[in-house]
This record gives sequence, C-alpha cells and structure tokens, in this order.
Amino acid sequence: METLLNNGPPGGRKLVSSVMACLLAFTPFVATGVAAQASEQMELSPVKALSVRDTYYPGTEDIRPDEMRVIACGTGMPNARPKQAAACFLVELGNGDKFIFDIGSGSAERLSGLAIPYDYLDKLFIGHLHSDHVGDFDALWIGGVIGNRQRPLRVWGPSGAEEKYGTRWFLENIAEAYAWDYGSRQGNVNTVGFEMEIHEFDYKGVGQVVFDENDVVIKSYPAIHAIDGPVSYTLEWNDLLFAFSSDTAPNKWWIEATKGADFSIHESFSSPTTLIEKQKWPVADALNVGTQVHTSPSQFGKVMDETRPRMAVAYHFFNDFDTAPLVEREIRKTYDGPLSLSVDYMVWNITKEEIRTRMAVISHEVWPLPSVTEKLPADPADRIGFSDFIISGAEKFPEVLREIYADINETYGTDFKPEDHHGPID
Ligand SMILES: [Zn+2]
Ligand SMILES: [Zn+2]
Repeated sequence: METLLNNGPPGGRKLVSSVMACLLAFTPFVATGVAAQASEQMELSPVKALSVRDTYYPGTEDIRPDEMRVIACGTGMPNARPKQAAACFLVELGNGDKFIFDIGSGSAERLSGLAIPYDYLDKLFIGHLHSDHVGDFDALWIGGVIGNRQRPLRVWGPSGAEEKYGTRWFLENIAEAYAWDYGSRQGNVNTVGFEMEIHEFDYKGVGQVVFDENDVVIKSYPAIHAIDGPVSYTLEWNDLLFAFSSDTAPNKWWIEATKGADFSIHESFSSPTTLIEKQKWPVADALNVGTQVHTSPSQFGKVMDETRPRMAVAYHFFNDFDTAPLVEREIRKTYDGPLSLSVDYMVWNITKEEIRTRMAVISHEVWPLPSVTEKLPADPADRIGFSDFIISGAEKFPEVLREIYADINETYGTDFKPEDHHGPID
C-alpha cells in the first residue's frame, strides 16, 4: 500500500482507496483511526493558519517588547559562495532599535531579504576592516540610498595603530573612490542618505561605551586578530547581554566581558585539518591562521566553556554536510552547553525565559520598502550634466517622449513638459 501511495500511477491510488473502503466497512478499529485522522485534517483546513510556525517569514511577526531577535545575514568566509555570505548579524530589539554588526561581502543581499525599510538599517558596528567584515559596506550605503533610506548612515568602528588602518580612513576613502557614483546621482535622486555619521573610537578601549541611546549600551573590547585594530562588541538592553566577537583569537577581555551572556556569537574558524585537506593550505599556515589569527573549533569550545552563555553561536566556517560534523566534534571536546552552528538566515528569538532557534525563509523577489518618511525628490539644479560632445550623440525620439509624458501626466494628474537631453520638445 505504501509503495502505491508514494510511487504508483494515478490508477494505483484508486486501488488504495478501494482497499481503504473495504477496511472501513469491515474493520471497526481501522475505521476509528481513519475518522480521527480525518477530523485532524479538517482542523488544518486551508482557511486556518498554523498557530505555531517553525519557520520565520520576514515581516510577519511582531517583536515582543521584552524580546531580542537576531538574524544571521553572513556566517561564512572571505571566499564568495552562494550558500554563505561573509560576516553580518542583525540585532532587532523590542524597543524598535536595529543594529547591524559587520557587513561582510554578500551580506547586503541577505539583509535585503528581510524586507526591512532601509531607514531602520542605519546603525552599523564594524569589528574590523577585513573585506569579509566590510566588503558590502558600499551595497548597504549606496544601495540603501537607492532603496529609500532618507537619513545618514551611522557607522561605528575602531581606530588603528596608524591613521590609515582606522575606520574613518576606510569610510572617507571609500567615499572618495565612489566620487563618480555620487556625482552621477546628484540631481537625479535625493542624496540625503549618502551622508555618513562616523564614530571612530580607540581600539584599545576595554569595556568602552561606544553607544548609549534609548536604554541600549554597546561596549567595545580589543580583539586579537592579524594586526592591531580589531574589536569585539557587547550590547546590553533590557537585562539581556548580547556579544559579537567579529574576528579574534581567544582573549581575556572577551572571556571577562561575556561570562553568562544571554547570546554569544564568536568566530569558530575552519579547523586546521579542513584548511589543509579542503583548502590545500600549507600545514604551517593552517596552524598559524587556524589557531593564532583565528579561533579553532576546539578553542571556541574552551572559550564557551569558560563563559557559559545561554546560547553559543559559532560562525566563520563553511558549514556543510562534511565539515559540520568535524566542527561539532572538535567543539564538543571542550564545551557541552547550548550551541548553534550558524548558517545564513538562522534566526533566534531571545527573552529571559527562552531562546528559540529557527530558519528564515525569504522571498527572492523582494523589493526595497518605502521610506518611513515622505520620499524627497531630487533637486535638478544639482545635476552635473554632460559635455557638449556627449549631448551631441543623444538620439531624439520626440513622438515617443510625448507619449510617455502624456500617459504619466494623465495617470498621475501632473503637467510635466516633454524634454530630452537637448531641452524641451516643442
Ligand atoms: Zn578578519
Ligand atoms: Zn573574518
């Protein structure tokens, strides 16, 4: 019977139905079971939604006033790959605040999948300036403007041992490098969202308060990663302690600051064995990078064993069918507490009572949401314009333009006069 149900042709289903009918008629025990099953199915009829969802669908659930929701928007490595963007975690609080921690390559696409107005994605905390932690800054910054953000992007990040290794240097020079992009948009779109509010702070600060607004306190701690400059963060709100390491080898500042944290995200790099076997690294490099520049899975376990968070989140490795078992085995050598081996779009709902872990399912056809404030128009007076040479190449299609303008004016009750690159059309 099972074979017919799963694999049989349409005719086979008829056979099953008739067998069931016989059973119903002659076997009271089976008949009762089938009836119970039928009534259960009635309650799950198409007019009722399931009351408990195992999946998070963005934009469909309130955040409770006492709740923190964290969504992984990048959990991978510097190497681009479809399955995992590089480092990025979004923290949403029941008071309405949202914070982005790191914006690694590929992560802006993940953020877009959450269908949050860009006005709310205006606070970014950078742990350090590796591309797998800031590589999508331009996509959030400029993409956010095009996506209707109508307020400055606020960015916090550490200084460096030299000025050129600091967050301000990175941001100001990225703005310089995008001079053409900015110039090209002046007068064509409203550019208020291009403004940056840069907060660079001392990377050596231990427990240094870098943000204190709306009952949310964010502190920075030195991290040990490659060269001086990287930091880790904690966020305190409503008696909940969130911690994000960005990249670091195990260090005393983190262990001191995150003891008993409610939610602790720490890097757990690919194990040295994986670096040697799958990435074909020289053994010496795998040991150095895997245990000194980064934190290996068994070192991650030791950090979590010493700090005992309510939930330990490992990120920064390719989390696949063949690597996850090894990572977990190595972590479990040193840590036996609650653990998430994160992948992109893992979601955690955190309250004092409970931590719920699910996966988000997003629409691949998501559009930017409207601004939460009235959309400001561009100011044509700001346009840089073209040289006479380029204008001389512009083709004139007056009859087509007249029709476009007439249709739009009729639909929207406006009165714009047709024009092309040469000026008004008679
Ligand atoms: Zn790094
Ligand atoms: Zn990294």
